[in-house]
Amino acid sequence: MRILIIEDEIKTAGFLKKGLVEHGFSVDWAPDGQQGLFLALTENYDLIILDVMLPKLEGWAIVTSVKKEYPHLPLLFLTARDTTEDKVKGLELGADDYLVKPFAFSELLARIRARLRKGEFKATNMISLANLQIDPLRYRVTRTGQRIELTQKEFALLLLLATHQTEVLSRTLIAEKVWDMNFDSDVNTVDVMIRRLRRKVDDPFEPKLIHTVRGVGYVMEIR
Ligand code: CA
Repeated sequence: MRILIIEDEIKTAGFLKKGLVEHGFSVDWAPDGQQGLFLALTENYDLIILDVMLPKLEGWAIVTSVKKEYPHLPLLFLTARDTTEDKVKGLELGADDYLVKPFAFSELLARIRARLRKGEFKATNMISLANLQIDPLRYRVTRTGQRIELTQKEFALLLLLATHQTEVLSRTLIAEKVWDMNFDSDVNTVDVMIRRLRRKVDDPFEPKLIHTVRGVGYVMEIR
């Protein structure tokens, strides 16, 4: 698990980094907002911890930009500000949690673990939507009881869409999760793969489950 810390107070950052590394996380640290945003958008993190008041770029702006690219990446604000307005603002912008300094490290660790667990995919559960059924453990997909053969990547793509039902997933996010590509890679690959997946999973059946959201990406849902 990789965590990015964006924090200008060297003491706090050092304490956080040491604690997280001791608990098995791989940690990067950015001392200002600009560097933090750059790392957040170019590297692959499982979670970001950030301060609100930062040199060069405030925490609010970072949350807005990061959430646009990676809507599912958990962001945890760590800040000396504790007014209700600030909390609400942070959460409205898309921050997932808010911890006010001074805080106990054990509390932070518990919040991080809760966030990471939330995003974890439980591989033992059957996933179904309308007449589509996915058995992640046995790599089995059926619609109206008919077996559908998928390649490994097609299966990964279907699983990603199905585990985020009703959420619009950007091409960037799909490319990253399914192909491990970063965001400047050729996202047309995603469109091609979606077409192939639709031919197998949607075209011969009703209702259609994979939908295009123009200019954004794709969503799986019953319409
Ligand atoms: Ca600060």
